[in-house]
Amino acid sequence: MKTSDVQTLYSEYILPTYTQAPLCLVKGKGSRVWDLNDKEYIDLFSGWAVSGLGHCPSEVVNAVRNQVTKIIHIPNNFLNIKQARLAEVISKHSFPAKTFFCNSGAEATDGALKFARKYGSNCGKYEIITMKQSFHGRTFGGIGATGQEKVREGFSPTLEGFKYADMNNLESVKALISSKTAAIFLEPIQGEGGIHVATQEFMQGLRKLCDEHCILLICDEVQTGMGRTGKMFAYQHYGIEPDVMTLAKSLGNGLPIGAFVVNKKIKDVMTPGSHGSTYGGNPLAAAAALAVFKAIEGGKLLKKTEELGEYFEKKLKALQKKHSVIKEIRGLGLMRGLELEVPGADLVDSAREKGLLINCTQGNTLRIFPAMTISKTLLNKALRILDEVFAELSVKG
Ligand SMILES: *Cc1c(COP(=O)(O)O)cnc(C)c1O
Repeated sequence: MKTSDVQTLYSEYILPTYTQAPLCLVKGKGSRVWDLNDKEYIDLFSGWAVSGLGHCPSEVVNAVRNQVTKIIHIPNNFLNIKQARLAEVISKHSFPAKTFFCNSGAEATDGALKFARKYGSNCGKYEIITMKQSFHGRTFGGIGATGQEKVREGFSPTLEGFKYADMNNLESVKALISSKTAAIFLEPIQGEGGIHVATQEFMQGLRKLCDEHCILLICDEVQTGMGRTGKMFAYQHYGIEPDVMTLAKSLGNGLPIGAFVVNKKIKDVMTPGSHGSTYGGNPLAAAAALAVFKAIEGGKLLKKTEELGEYFEKKLKALQKKHSVIKEIRGLGLMRGLELEVPGADLVDSAREKGLLINCTQGNTLRIFPAMTISKTLLNKALRILDEVFAELSVKG
């Protein structure tokens, strides 16, 4: 099969909800992937930050291989060892917590929203404050929570009860708080919105506001979780704890799994029958997620991510000095954004032609997510390609 044959099948049979590059990947190992012509690419996109440990890490491959021959599915009205142990590990690495498992980030959002509504239902609280430029998924709950008008276009009436504040502007949040506010829901670092990092004052201020007004603080860690920023969860950079956090993306390193995690001190909100998911916490996906935690546990990989992240930032800043088209560099750990003076799509295309996968969001922000396991050598090689791409742009431009 050729790439064009796959494209033909897509145009015949797949609903066109994505803009697709003419690239058909068939193999991955670590931070390298191959297309069906056996052309090799360095992957600094990691599938929207899903492949945190790189592609096909042996720990995850072995865990899945082991589990798949034993039992693939257990219904949630029976007990599942892998799910129970995974919930224990999540609690150990975050706060004393109870977890609900689902299959994606959007479902984790929906679950957290339902939790917040139920929490507030006794005292008439149902409003949820989220941030402008946020992203929380594509279900009706997700597009309601997402602070970008474009995701709701054509889908009215969407879920009610959301108010949108400005990221890093505590006053704008205060102005939206009322006796009906049940929760404040935000990404510690906005991913889709262009890699905007919450400031210390903002996160700590939100925690204080939530405590004063009996409001839940919910952190969306779908993109920032599982070590990407140099800590297991991004909220840990701020010396605060959320009441609820959502997880997905690299939780299963590619096996579909999501979760919302609730602080144990919030008791008796969910009861049997109040929420459910057929596949949620499925043994196969849970085995993968357990293997992901095992690979990150011990702290070596987190330390490496922090150090490599700082190195990467330094290198990107050097690139910025050289290429004036780079307006700003943002991010933490191995989650980085380069805001450009020009649209980024052409740069993504020319990088791909040269064997480097990156992403562009918000039209002008390159989004780069190296796997935590990437070698410095490969990262440097990727940086050289980026340098070339920018150099060619300035010749063209
Ligand atoms: C990707 C993402 C989601 C949605 O996850 P899906 O698995 O695509 O449903 C939610 N929140 C954030 C912050 C995300 O980056």
